[in-house]
Amino acid sequence: MRIKRVVILGAGSAGLLAAVTFARRTPLEIEIIRSPGIGIIGVGEGTTHTFPGYLLNELRFDPHKLFSEAQPTWKLGLRFLWGPRKEFFYTFSQQFAARARGLTRNNGYYCDESIDDLDIMSAMMRRGRAFLRRADGGPDFSTHGSTAFHIENERLVAYLESLARGLKVGIRDGTVARVKRAADGRIESLQLDDGASVSGDFFIDASGFRSELLGAALGEPFVDFSNALFCDRAVIGGWERREEPILPYTTCETMDAGWCWQIEHEHFINRGYVYSSAFIADESARAELLRKNPRIPPERTRVVRFRSGRYRRGWVENVIAIGNSAGFVEPLEATALAAIINQARAAAQMLSDSDYAPPPGYRELYNRNHAFVWDEIRDFIALHYRVNSRLDTAFWQHCRESTPLGIAQELFDFCGDHGPTSIHSHVLLPHTSTFGIEGYLAMLVGNRVPHATPHSADTAELAALASHRAANAARAENALTVAQTIAAIRSPAWRW
Ligand SMILES: Cc1cc2nc3c(=O)[nH]c(=O)nc-3n(C[C@H](O)[C@H](O)[C@H](O)COP(=O)(O)OP(=O)(O)OC[C@H]3O[C@@H](n4cnc5c(N)ncnc54)[C@H](O)[C@@H]3O)c2cc1C
Repeated sequence: MRIKRVVILGAGSAGLLAAVTFARRTPLEIEIIRSPGIGIIGVGEGTTHTFPGYLLNELRFDPHKLFSEAQPTWKLGLRFLWGPRKEFFYTFSQQFAARARGLTRNNGYYCDESIDDLDIMSAMMRRGRAFLRRADGGPDFSTHGSTAFHIENERLVAYLESLARGLKVGIRDGTVARVKRAADGRIESLQLDDGASVSGDFFIDASGFRSELLGAALGEPFVDFSNALFCDRAVIGGWERREEPILPYTTCETMDAGWCWQIEHEHFINRGYVYSSAFIADESARAELLRKNPRIPPERTRVVRFRSGRYRRGWVENVIAIGNSAGFVEPLEATALAAIINQARAAAQMLSDSDYAPPPGYRELYNRNHAFVWDEIRDFIALHYRVNSRLDTAFWQHCRESTPLGIAQELFDFCGDHGPTSIHSHVLLPHTSTFGIEGYLAMLVGNRVPHATPHSADTAELAALASHRAANAARAENALTVAQTIAAIRSPAWRW
């Protein structure tokens, strides 16, 4: 049967990103069902660097509309308060795998002491700067490819909804009460609580943690990640920005039984303490968050529960799950929106490549990718826990002793023997790795994970490195802050 009509269950960021992807990439008729009573999760505010490029370059949406309606700020990477160093920066560029001119090994080998200013992105982050200046003083967006967003979830959803409506996607309010299946197992229609029935040839389950179609109706088994990732709750709060500068990065800070994010919106600072309920009670976690962030009004905190894991398959019968309904891993690397893009892009491509009659082989391939993407995210996040020596609480001792690394184990062992090398990383890591060797080296070098082959740089190498750092520092000093960049793109003279 050739697919003509797609029904998307859910209008959070997953359902809407899937809708705009399908509307841009396929001729299919698309209808979204969403429940005003259930609403959206309302969290998910940091992206990876794939997100801006996906909307602006791949789907070719208007930057003016994006920046005026969704009002993102720019995120050059993550500042980790993690491990024995005071801080380190993880960028979306190449700091540790790259080799500065005059060095005999990649930069990661030269970070026994200082880790600063290895590239322009980390140099800008350290100085609270976001973009280099063009000759006319405006922001130079040529580094855009290495830049992500902070974006308020409700603004993002409203912006995506307006894009979807502009692309003739139908949006219907209603709550699914029952799912009708055909004799061959496919889903035929969704029965709403107002008595209406919505039928489709193909369904996208974007119903969030409820996973109404994939998990509940089709009964796909859930692959639990709690043997590797011990956190299962977050207490979230924030405050209206006062004099604090808008920082060009997400901060990830080690806490007694987990870690805390700081996400920078233009007018609001959002904090969230992700913790393990086996090691700390909700009230104690809330108290720790408030003690460390006295500006958070206590009445504006809320606890969100989650379970880490993925469904065994993401595509079953005529249903593909996208977003939290397919899987979830805590937001330490803010990977959920990137996973949504990966899923939506692949789903649209597989349908169009198969002329809207996908053979079973496509489904199998999709499901292999689904498993690989989620499992790699799990293992990369697990590495963060395994190597963090900053605190000696019971939680962190447990993480250091008991976190399995999965596919990251081989690379971890190799770098333990040979140092932070990027050589032949495509053998140690699949080439489809979401994070690439740079991500893994950032964790190893940033956390000063010991290795057996330290490199002792000679005088010429030290001089070359010092001059490389000084050049990055000088360029970064002159760069624009986030606030200056916002002012520049809002000036009447600005042209995208
Ligand atoms: C603590 C926390 C922090 C996070 N931080 C980040 C981050 O920094 N970056 C990031 O990328 N991601 C983050 N995430 C993940 C984030 O939740 C997702 O990125 C994103 O918001 C996707 O949500 P969703 O669209 O899958 O689900 P939701 O927003 O929950 O949307 C579900 C939709 O389904 C509808 N629905 C459900 N059941 C029914 C029904 N029976 N009938 C009709 N409609 C129904 C709802 O009404 C809603 O429209 C975080 C998650 C948590 C828990």
